[in-house]
Amino acid sequence: MSEKKVYNVIIIGSGPAGLTAGIYTARANLNPVIFEGTQPGGQLMITTDIENYPGFEKGISGPELMDIMRKQALRFNATSFFKRIGRVDFSGKPFKLYTDEDEEYLAKTVIIATGASAKYLGLESEHRFMGYGVSACATCDGFFFRNQHVVVVGGGDTAMEEANYLTHHASEVTMIHRREGFRASKIMLDRVHKNPKIKFMLNNVIEEVLGKEEDGKKSVTGIKLRNVLTDEITDFPCEGVFMAIGHRPNTEIFKGILDMNESGYLITKKSSMETNIPGVFACGDAQDFYYRQAVSASGTGCMAAIDAERYLEMME
Ligand code: FAD
Ligand code: NAP
Repeated sequence: MSEKKVYNVIIIGSGPAGLTAGIYTARANLNPVIFEGTQPGGQLMITTDIENYPGFEKGISGPELMDIMRKQALRFNATSFFKRIGRVDFSGKPFKLYTDEDEEYLAKTVIIATGASAKYLGLESEHRFMGYGVSACATCDGFFFRNQHVVVVGGGDTAMEEANYLTHHASEVTMIHRREGFRASKIMLDRVHKNPKIKFMLNNVIEEVLGKEEDGKKSVTGIKLRNVLTDEITDFPCEGVFMAIGHRPNTEIFKGILDMNESGYLITKKSSMETNIPGVFACGDAQDFYYRQAVSASGTGCMAAIDAERYLEMME
């Protein structure tokens, strides 16, 4: 019976971190395997213009950037599988990884680049109207709200970007934010302030998404807001609700196996991308709760790849 193949490097995730790790390990002749998961290309697949990724003077669309990155990795003999890793066993060498279909893959090193996913408020009504007026992706769903009034929840860069983008479609955009201060960068906030179609409802939180169902078709008619300073409740009419309240790291499958902080972000050693298990590296938004940018994800992807390469050299 032939022995099962042990890969030099398995990369979990295909956002900027995973694909950059793919480019570096492939160019080092390590023939990496990249598991792309349920969002091939990662978070940038749901955005429009990327203006801050170096090398693109006039900006580039998220999907285009990720397509180029993937092609660059595949050009140097990386292999990509459009599958999700459902569980891992890092208790011995080689490391064992299992897809959702329970196929087993073996690796000498693993690079985790599983990124992060959009957060929701957790309201029953939000869940009920998901896809029927509630969304977490303006570029995917903004088109459906032509000349309508929509709200965007959140006060970070994503909320600003979503609001600006939605003004291309909606007649009016109201930002709902739970306080007066913003996490968003100044440039993004300035753009929103200058946009005449965008208004603000500060110190307010959504208590309920209001809607109706006619002829089996659900639609949003408004939101019930609570002013956090006065507790006053108001019904606010709108047709769309875009959640932009941040992200959580996709690290559930590593719980109890790898060290992580209280929010689930993987902890790496100070001067490298190595986790508490030698040979297992983490990069990008799965590990970085502070910078969370495409270029920093790519940067740590590069670092994890070089760390994996040096680890393999050391093991030989
Ligand atoms: P992600 O991009 O999150 O990719 C994670 C990958 O892991 C995905 O491919 C997913 O399918 C895969 N995965 C997850 N779990 C598994 C599993 N179990 N098995 C296999 N695969 C798995 N940053 C900028 O610098 N500039 C911008 O203009 C910008 N705009 C943004 C706009 C929006 C709307 C959002 C949400 C973010 C934006 N960001 C921007 C932030 C940027 O997208 C992220 O920092 C970056 O994508 C993180 O890269 P990553 O590779 O770590 O993870
Ligand atoms: P974020 O910076 O964490 O902001 C999340 C926002 O949602 C905060 O304003 C937060 O309020 C609010 N919020 C969180 N939970 C909430 C809840 N339960 N109810 C109501 N409001 C809630 O997340 P992000 O905006 O997604 O940005 C993530 C990273 O991606 C950042 O580093 C950002 O710079 C980057 N990014 C960059 C760009 C760009 O450069 N073009 C675009 C998008 C994203 P509080 O402030 O009160 O906590």
